[in-house]
Amino acid sequence: MSQIEINKKVVILGSGPAGLTAAIYASRAQLDPLVIDGPQPGGQLTITTDVENYPGFKNGIMGPVLMDEFREQALRFGTEIINVWIEKVDLSQRPFILYGKESQDAEAITTIIRAETLIISTGASAKWLGVPGEEPVPLGLGGNGVSACATCDGFFFRGKPIVVVGGGDTAMEEALFLTKFASEVTVVHRRDEFRASKIMADRVKSHEKIKILWNTEVKQINGTKESGVESITLIDTQANETFDYPTQGVFIAIGHKPNTDLFKGILDMDDVGYLITEGKTMKTNVPGVFACGDAQDSYYRQAITAAGTGCMAAIDAERFLAEHPILAETTIAA
Ligand SMILES: Cc1cc2nc3c(=O)[nH]c(=O)nc-3n(C[C@H](O)[C@H](O)[C@H](O)COP(=O)(O)OP(=O)(O)OC[C@H]3O[C@@H](n4cnc5c(N)ncnc54)[C@H](O)[C@@H]3O)c2cc1C
Repeated sequence: MSQIEINKKVVILGSGPAGLTAAIYASRAQLDPLVIDGPQPGGQLTITTDVENYPGFKNGIMGPVLMDEFREQALRFGTEIINVWIEKVDLSQRPFILYGKESQDAEAITTIIRAETLIISTGASAKWLGVPGEEPVPLGLGGNGVSACATCDGFFFRGKPIVVVGGGDTAMEEALFLTKFASEVTVVHRRDEFRASKIMADRVKSHEKIKILWNTEVKQINGTKESGVESITLIDTQANETFDYPTQGVFIAIGHKPNTDLFKGILDMDDVGYLITEGKTMKTNVPGVFACGDAQDSYYRQAITAAGTGCMAAIDAERFLAEHPILAETTIAA
């Protein structure tokens, strides 16, 4: 199988809000960026329905439609986009080298990309329970009553009963935040004690709107496309009893995993794998490599913050290129 070779001044790995915003800025700066789509073209927002908190869309916008707008805007200024899975990288010297395959499961390396600068915007993935009913629409109720983001979706549950699944700090934060909207919040936890910090756990335990179901695991989320979530099937692991618990929303809050395995041992990251950037910039510890969006943000994890850091990364890359020689001649991907 023949290999495609591409040389670019700016290569952006990931096409979510961070990557495509970086592409808009880099292409308007005449840097002819290449965006690599990977397994989820458009990123996480393509698996949700209404996005009501992205500025500029006063009536809200569907996640996939918003990401098409980002993409069209990046293409308009000359961004090139290819879809490969990046299997490994060599960041030991410039130009950096990225090795791409047709998909994650494919065997052969089919694309070799040389990058004068690299912007990493590979995002993060919410951890899911793996139970029936949780899958994104149209297969399940994900995005239609099941969510992994209270800041994003809490507003849709005004006056409704909801369930939060988890026992760590994230679950405590989500549960407390959701009390602003929900009629009642039930925290479902598989153990008899929270993993969360004592202060957060105490706040949850003493909150008048929060009920806790200890030693309880989720078996299934029930509902229809039309009604959304109607109930959740739980098992009391001590009594070994299964029961249906009525609710209209389920927030899975068992953590996130940044998509940064590719950079282990190469770039500085925290214990969970979030890339570490320098001060107020998007610079990683390798000069010429920048990180933005959820891959480096364990705290805000919003489309608008991802887009903001994408802009910052592109400006950082532009300034880096102004101060460093271009080593290889740019080629086009197509
Ligand atoms: C269901 C859901 C609903 C949400 N709702 C909202 C909301 O209403 N408002 C809001 O502000 N935020 C919302 N969020 C959060 C928001 O989607 C994220 O904060 C945002 O998408 C992060 O953008 P990103 O560009 O950093 O990464 P992502 O959107 O995660 O994009 C990552 C990109 O990297 C690519 N990639 C990863 N690994 C590789 C690889 N090895 N090779 C090639 N490509 C790779 C993927 O294909 C993808 O294109 C929601 C998230 C979810 C899951």
